[in-house]
Amino acid sequence: MEISIIGTGYVGLVTGACLAEKGHRVSCVDIDSRRVDALNRGQAPFFEAELEDLLSRNAGRNLTATTDLHAAVLESDATLIAVGTPFDGQRIDLRAVLAASNQIGAVLRQKPGYHVVVVKSSVVPGTTDQHVLPALEAASGKKAGVDFGVGMNPEFLSEGEAVQEFMHPDRIVLGGIDERTIEVLEKLYRPFDGAPRIRTNTRTAEMIKYASNALLASLISFANEIANLGSALGGIDAVEVMRGVHLSQYFTNRTSEGLPPATAFLKAGCGFGGSCLPKDVNALIAHGRQAGASMRLLEAVIRTNDDQPAKVIGLLKKHFASLDGVRIAVLGLSFKPGTSDVRESPAFPIIRELVSLGATVKAYDPVAMEEAQKVLPELKGLRCASLDSAVAEIDAVVVVTPWKHFHDLPALLRNRNPAVVFVDARRAFDPRSFASYEGIGM
Ligand code: NAD
Repeated sequence: MEISIIGTGYVGLVTGACLAEKGHRVSCVDIDSRRVDALNRGQAPFFEAELEDLLSRNAGRNLTATTDLHAAVLESDATLIAVGTPFDGQRIDLRAVLAASNQIGAVLRQKPGYHVVVVKSSVVPGTTDQHVLPALEAASGKKAGVDFGVGMNPEFLSEGEAVQEFMHPDRIVLGGIDERTIEVLEKLYRPFDGAPRIRTNTRTAEMIKYASNALLASLISFANEIANLGSALGGIDAVEVMRGVHLSQYFTNRTSEGLPPATAFLKAGCGFGGSCLPKDVNALIAHGRQAGASMRLLEAVIRTNDDQPAKVIGLLKKHFASLDGVRIAVLGLSFKPGTSDVRESPAFPIIRELVSLGATVKAYDPVAMEEAQKVLPELKGLRCASLDSAVAEIDAVVVVTPWKHFHDLPALLRNRNPAVVFVDARRAFDPRSFASYEGIGM
């Protein structure tokens, strides 16, 4: 393919050099003419392992550099935007991305044929469809999705290993406003066959990049919060603590999909419960308070968890102006499948809130009914003997615990008139299996 890349920083240049090495013809554009001249001599403007080898092999052949954005866009099939997106102290600074979008749009006005514009810079969710796309339409006088495609393809490379990481990606995220755009991105990345791919919309692609970095940042601050508490308490070595944490099978094993089991904890839902996580996190926060070490991250963890059950109620309220008299089956009362332990189960705050809002609640769990009734005596009047009876004559279902026993729900709820509102508080079901589906985090 003929590719133009706007911005020859770490991301733009490494992307350009690697795509050229893989056989695409790449034109790298920058406003910095000294940088452009150096690139055309095969010299990298910054040190990055293996980059100069790629430049010496491809510069002047598959890879050229220019300050002429107009010509580069005109002569290419797709344009990647890889300019900087600094944080200005208040918000993300999108000036360079928007300037590039306006310039590209002006070229598209004169360019016949379909072209795809791809944001490769890290941009906050919503930027591509709310800012880049309108800027391109305004400058080109053309229609996105008809005359040109708009994509978002975040980059995950880290400086120092950028070339190796680009050449052997752990994942390729292809975000697009439509299938046609994504097909062009597929073609661009065809030489990287074998790397796991995610095909999605532009906002989800943008969020994947930020979620990945935010998680890494959270892990570092988590380790530091634990280390600081250890220092305050005395006699605790943070290196040994984290070594003990690292050796958990959650990090060292692999699931059938080849992922560390810790990934099971990176799933949105109605919150954690159980006999350990809530009590241990709360105890550590209290212990830190006593030692004068505030556990701000863990306090936020508890607050976020306490707020999750309300998200379930919010999903129901999207469908019913009032929940007064609405017949709702709450399925799953144990804090996770495979146990009758109901301690701190999010089912309780959900049921209490539904009852207080006047809903007619039915509750069912394949093994935890007795345990649940001890915690919530009102369940006596709400409990059902079977899944079938729980879902008979109802307006809505909330699945709190994703028991295997609930696999038949799509069939049990099919052809109801009116459709039963299905709230999947664990994202355990395929949304397409229900006429009216709501899930946490969509
Ligand atoms: P950078 O600052 O190193 O490079 C940006 C380049 O864009 C500069 O050379 C600048 O002259 C050029 N430029 C700016 N406006 C231009 C325009 N209108 N036309 C042509 N050239 C223009 O930036 P970077 O580190 O490569 O980062 C680019 C984006 O990728 C950012 O959004 C960043 O967050 C993201 N990212 C960076 C890394 C990293 O490790 N550096 C990793 C992943 C993602």
